Parts: sequence; C-alpha cells; structure tokens
Amino acid sequence: MNLNDHIRTVENFPKDGISYKDITTLLLNPKVCQHTLNQLAEPLLNQHIDKVIGIESRGFLFGFLLAQRLNVGFVPIRKPGKLPHDTLSKTYELEYGSDTIEIHKDAINKNDRIIIHDDVLATGGTAQAACQLVEQLGGDIVELNFLIQLRALKGQERVKSYNYRSLLHY
Ligand code: AMP
Repeated sequence: MNLNDHIRTVENFPKDGISYKDITTLLLNPKVCQHTLNQLAEPLLNQHIDKVIGIESRGFLFGFLLAQRLNVGFVPIRKPGKLPHDTLSKTYELEYGSDTIEIHKDAINKNDRIIIHDDVLATGGTAQAACQLVEQLGGDIVELNFLIQLRALKGQERVKSYNYRSLLHY
C-alpha cells in the first residue's frame, strides 16, 4: 500500500506559492488509515510511552488514534484561548509574523515519556515550539512523528536534536 497515492497536493492553497498536502483524501479510506496508524505505532509499542501530544488541528486526527493504540493519554496543543484551564504558551516566529500555541500545565508530569505528532513537518517552527512547551513542563520527548515531511522547508534542521520520523517525504 502506497500512502503517497492517498495524499492530494493542491497548488497555491491557502496562498500563492504554497503546495498544500491534503490528507482528507487519506481519511476517506479506513484501510489506508489503519495502515497509517500501524506504521506510526509499530516502532513505539515497546517504548513505554506515557502520553501522545497532537498539534491543532490535523495533529489531533492520528495523534488521538496513536494514543489509543499505545493505550496512553492524549494531550492537545491548541491555538490561543481554546484551552479552559491553566496553560503554558509559546510564541514563535513565522516567515511573516508570529504564532502562539498552548498546552494545559497539568497535562504533563515530570519525566513523562512523550510522543509529539502532527500531520506535516514544514518549517518546523510549530514542532520546535511544541517541544519547548513539553520540556518546560518536565516531559522527555521520545519521538516527533509526522505523516509528511516537506524537505525543502528544512524543518528537519529545527528538530534535529530529537528523534523524528515521517511516513512520507516530499
Ligand atoms: P511549520 O511550523 O512550518 O512546520 O508548519 C506546520 C504546520 O502547518 C502543521 O501543523 C501543518 O499542518 C501546516 N502546514 C504547513 N505547510 C503545509 C503544507 N504545505 N500542507 C499542509 N499543511 C501544512
């Protein structure tokens, strides 16, 4: 099964010059989703993971399934103002402007073994900020995993001090 056949590339979305990787086509097919989840989970089954973190919003899709498969808790990282309890925030630079993500402070315990999941690794800014939040709360990052890595955007440079893995590379 080739996951690549189930990702749709949409040129110039949401802005001119962006080649958007659309996973909604993959989500339509339950067999392909099972295969995707198996691939994400397989190397982690004996790693004594405590929690899986998913990054809003597409990181919630396979992030939550992965947490269920590993039989561990799921923690959402969200855009500002969405989480109701005490949060820790991180603001990071984008090519133009900045962005902020938040996590519940009580979602992670010291030395929790953490997986961070998102659909796409692009510039790596989001993943790097997520790592900083987890580490500030005392978590140990075991792996970052993605469905898709866009090599030309060099996100790998920003996460290279962690174990990272992507199922597909463009
Ligand atoms: P970055 O911080 O640049 O690595 O961007 C990561 C976030 O933006 C991820 O949550 C992705 O869902 C989204 N993203 C960035 N570039 C793309 C793209 N070309 N196609 C789909 N999603 C993207």
